[in-house]
Amino acid sequence: MGNHKPDVPRIFCIGRNYVAHAAELGNPVPEEPVVFMKPPHCLVPPGAAIRFPPHGKELHHEAEVVLRIGRRCVNVNIEQAADLIDGVGLGLDLTLRDVQASLKKRGLPWEKAKAFEQSAPLGTIVEIGRIADINDLAFICKVNGQVRQQGCTADMIFPPARIVSYLSGIWELLPGDLIYTGTPEGVAQLFPDDTITVEADWAGSHSWKIVSN
Ligand code: MG
Repeated sequence: MGNHKPDVPRIFCIGRNYVAHAAELGNPVPEEPVVFMKPPHCLVPPGAAIRFPPHGKELHHEAEVVLRIGRRCVNVNIEQAADLIDGVGLGLDLTLRDVQASLKKRGLPWEKAKAFEQSAPLGTIVEIGRIADINDLAFICKVNGQVRQQGCTADMIFPPARIVSYLSGIWELLPGDLIYTGTPEGVAQLFPDDTITVEADWAGSHSWKIVSN
């Protein structure tokens, strides 16, 4: 089962934050961030096995840069928001694309497609002091050693500080809150026995194995 993380109050997720990914799923480029959440119970530490979710068929990887909030804040501007990010890492917003397509078509919430058990694998969070430029972080995602996604935070529609500022206008952000910042193009299907890796020189390399139900 998932690993409960009481030190993570919430996991916010941003959708459609890269132009090429919005296009590959046939979605318009948003004018403001698309926001959803996953329960902290969905987090999976590096190296753990991930059971293929029982209620869908098309499991997609979405490799994403993950921000960690360092201090409580409400309604901060973009400049203030930049100082509130105290760590950054790489994670996966695992998505059941067939379930999501069915929910989208009916105008229903996405939780069954996005917030299921073990849907938020997360690598090690790196302290912000060790990050040269949060707005220029390249990363890759590999499946069974083959590169599937390559991204860079420089290509985000809503950069990290803008996301934090935006969320703080709706919620009081708390220390330990995590923000999955959206995925670049190249999302594709995962199958049992696949090994998926997120990797960057600044974040290290973190892998998970998909196992059958
Ligand atoms: Mg995503």
